[in-house]
Amino acid sequence: MLIDTHCHVQFHSYKKDMDEVIKRTLDKGVFMITVGTQSDTSRTGLEIAEKYDGVWASIGLHSYHLHEQEFADANETIHTRTEKFDQDLFRKLAQHPKCVAIGEFGLDYFHMPPNVSREQVIHEQKETVRAQFDLATEMNLPVIIHCRDAYEDQLEMVEKYVRAGKLSKRGVVHCFVGTQEIADRFLELGFYISFTGILTFPPRKGEKGEDGLSPIQRIAKNVPLERLLVETDAPYLTPVPHRGERNEPWMVQFVAEKIAELKGIDVEEVACITTENARKLFLI
Ligand SMILES: [Zn+2]
Ligand SMILES: [Zn+2]
Repeated sequence: MLIDTHCHVQFHSYKKDMDEVIKRTLDKGVFMITVGTQSDTSRTGLEIAEKYDGVWASIGLHSYHLHEQEFADANETIHTRTEKFDQDLFRKLAQHPKCVAIGEFGLDYFHMPPNVSREQVIHEQKETVRAQFDLATEMNLPVIIHCRDAYEDQLEMVEKYVRAGKLSKRGVVHCFVGTQEIADRFLELGFYISFTGILTFPPRKGEKGEDGLSPIQRIAKNVPLERLLVETDAPYLTPVPHRGERNEPWMVQFVAEKIAELKGIDVEEVACITTENARKLFLI
């Protein structure tokens, strides 16, 4: 029994066989949270969750969609459409009984759109993060934070909200790729840390420590199991041994196996505790 706490089965990659992918995953005893990145994928995620026991959804506006841009992620070219965060629309979606979180959203300074100044992009990203922090606080839901090359700024925003007594359900930092210090600060603030198939990738050249691990593997080893979640971020970031193929939610088992190996414990224990963590955070 595992819960893939972050996948995107409503995405275009599953257009032809989404129901088969979901059934295949549920048949293997894996539940999932399918994550919205703008209003339409948030809505379709909820529709899928309505149809299946063992599937829940989250709703949010990803920073990628604040400006039109195109970039290659894994094997797929992503072309984003522009959207402004509509508080009323997302508030309505958040009331759906199978909506378990607000997200994914967050600061991402890695993919910077062309033709817009960096200052302007950062300003708009922060504004959109604040709007979704406010909605999560109002709806008493946890947040799913996406962050890349912006952990310091993201932490500063989270700290401010937590200190003000907001974000009482806290949330998770998904697809964590920061440092140990950043992980520790999120943990201190009451957040969960979630790892993807990146954990299964062998260390890159020059990255391998004396322990034979990549920096992110070392961090996963150190994060207490009680504060850790597993995810695929499917269709992206396919874990070893399926790298090169399209990712599917059931492949979260390879992430769990890697964590068990890193911590020197049974995969059953990883499955049991991370499932309990997900149930506690998302109230499922
Ligand atoms: Zn993300
Ligand atoms: Zn995602």
